Amino acid sequence: MTLKTKGARGPAKAARLLPGQNPAGAPSPKGRISIRRDICKGCKYCVLACPKGVIELDAKPDAAGFLAARAVRMEKCTGCALCARMCPEVAIEVWAAR
Ligand code: SF4
Ligand code: SF4
Repeated sequence: MTLKTKGARGPAKAARLLPGQNPAGAPSPKGRISIRRDICKGCKYCVLACPKGVIELDAKPDAAGFLAARAVRMEKCTGCALCARMCPEVAIEVWAAR
């Protein structure tokens, strides 16, 4: 399966990915994400937004005192980009299969 980037970081660009392209609830793994943990503030918005439970926060704080987000169930990612849309730090990049 070839994965192509579906948008750079940022809510505005991620928003273009959603309608009908690869909606949450797709039956098979079709996406993957990258989280810039160095700028993540641990707000948990992405965790709450993900319909597949792909993302969790670390149990221990990083050097800056934040519980950074990480992908723990990447095989469930559909590439819906809801997480990227919610991230106020623009720390998540999404790829989805076409
Ligand atoms: S793109 Fe983000 S919100 Fe959508 S399934 Fe993947 S990790 Fe979850
Ligand atoms: S939404 Fe962004 S800043 Fe907040 S926990 Fe997720 S990756 Fe980190």
